[in-house]
Amino acid sequence: MAKIVAVFNQKGGVGKTTTNINLTTALSLEGYRILVIDIDPQGNTSSGFGIEKNNLKKSVYNAIIHGDDLKEIILTTSYENLHILPSHPDLAGAEIELTNMPQRELRLKNSIENVKPFYDYIFIDCPPSLGLLTINALAMTNTVLIPIQCEFYALEGVSQLMNTISLVKQGLNPQLEIEGVLMTMFDSRTNLSNQVVDEVVDYFKDKVYETMIPRNIRLAEAPSYGQTIFEYANASKGSKAYLALAKEFIQRQE
Ligand code: ADP
Ligand code: MG
Repeated sequence: MAKIVAVFNQKGGVGKTTTNINLTTALSLEGYRILVIDIDPQGNTSSGFGIEKNNLKKSVYNAIIHGDDLKEIILTTSYENLHILPSHPDLAGAEIELTNMPQRELRLKNSIENVKPFYDYIFIDCPPSLGLLTINALAMTNTVLIPIQCEFYALEGVSQLMNTISLVKQGLNPQLEIEGVLMTMFDSRTNLSNQVVDEVVDYFKDKVYETMIPRNIRLAEAPSYGQTIFEYANASKGSKAYLALAKEFIQRQE
């Protein structure tokens, strides 16, 4: 049965999507069977895997709103072990459509059950908000992986994030746990990056991964070619970091 991991931080631009694309690819290269779910209406994870999201007949939208069978929606990728449940721009309206629907927080959870046996890990890329789409992700996931950018206001918003997690634990998902905290866009040459890491470690203790993702231009360039870092720049610092993260992630499961 798959373990579900939501990549979550309501702040935008912290590296959720980059992590989602490249960590899942690294895990698939290690032989794990992965499903990536893109519930961000912007669909950057989907396009990062080279999917033309505007031309899709069906997307995660149909699963959430109409309860369509995921097996009809999931797409294969150029990686044998990696499948994706793509996003679609229509998803932007789903937040509002969901408001009056029964079990509005559990729509995705209900539709995932019949594909869980086919995967080792299911990763969800969350939008940068605390709306109903994010709540659907938090309600169904086993753990959250929190990327934090090495910047001056890194911890800003973290108490709100932890508050959301604890509210979800009290109601929708009592088993919810923190998978790990990932420092992104780390620059070892600056004192600031090192200070931010110290602060985050103070707060999250051993939840913080030893692997940190460096600021690497290749990571930022790859999505515009619809490629993961392993296709675009396999020898880059970015690809090495995400491979190391995948190994640390797996080690922590044991
Ligand atoms: P989020 O999904 O949290 O909004 P993204 O993964 O889209 O964040 O990252 C925000 C921007 O920063 C994107 O343009 C992305 O290409 C870039 N980026 C992310 N991680 C790195 C990194 N380690 N080095 C350089 N640029 C990065
Ligand atoms: Mg994103």
